[in-house]
Amino acid sequence: MFEQLQNKFARIFKNIKGHGKISEKNISDSIREIRIALLESDVNYKVVKAFIERVKVSAAGTKVFDSVTPGQQFVKIVLDELTSFLTSNENDINLKSSTSVIVMSGLQGSGKTTTAVKLASFLKKENKRKPLIIGLDLQRPAAMDQLKVLAENNNLDYYIEKNTKDPINVLKNGISKSKEQKNDLIILDTAGRLHVDKKLISELNDIIKYSNPDEILFIADGMMGQDAVKSSSVFNESCNLTGSIITKLDGDSGGGVALSLKHVTKVPIKYITYGEKIHDIE
Ligand code: GDP
Repeated sequence: MFEQLQNKFARIFKNIKGHGKISEKNISDSIREIRIALLESDVNYKVVKAFIERVKVSAAGTKVFDSVTPGQQFVKIVLDELTSFLTSNENDINLKSSTSVIVMSGLQGSGKTTTAVKLASFLKKENKRKPLIIGLDLQRPAAMDQLKVLAENNNLDYYIEKNTKDPINVLKNGISKSKEQKNDLIILDTAGRLHVDKKLISELNDIIKYSNPDEILFIADGMMGQDAVKSSSVFNESCNLTGSIITKLDGDSGGGVALSLKHVTKVPIKYITYGEKIHDIE
């Protein structure tokens, strides 16, 4: 899924590792190539700038030139900085409440419904939870049927209502259902729009207020590139996200969304999905 970027980095690393001694020029050449590789892979330009700055500071601080294996030392710095751009101490999903609530948010088509089902199945298996998925996407007429089919095919509890326009009422009834069935995890599949608008955000905030979630996850379409990153910051400003999930990383995107998202939202990437099948999540 990061093949493009991987190939470019492999070439840059091979080059610099080959030098027994390296000069400042070797380092600045490599840094320039890294910058180009990241930009070509659609990493946000502000993120590239921040990343390059960190590599430069780190390289200066660790005295790469005095090292016995300067090339390898430099590569290690780049890899450490890349890792810290992608990971955080809070990568694990927060399921501390006795009945945990996860809100799935994001634009239409980003993969909320399919990812809600994948996540329910994953947490049922890995965390021994008994999830209920509540369908709150009342905008898209087919959304309820899609959720029903996916949940039934995968033996998952779900709650939907048709012919209603009031998501809070559906949420209320869904929560009652979860108590009856003793579900200890509730995943809320919310409505998306083609673009972020006030109505969408206000509906989402009503849902958040009513359900008091442990996690508010932004579902970012990995194929959308920087547009996904842009909308993530709008969602984050209005809803205080706690994490994100990047979908469709099986597509031929440059991995740019993954590298940009955490830096822009300051919230951890909790999962990625990379296919249409139920287990294509990690
Ligand atoms: P929603 O509108 O946000 O609920 O989006 P959906 O869950 O309906 O997903 C939109 C489309 O993206 C569907 O056709 C999904 O099958 C597809 N999709 C979701 N996640 C992935 C993924 O990881 N890889 C691929 N290839 N397709 C995905």
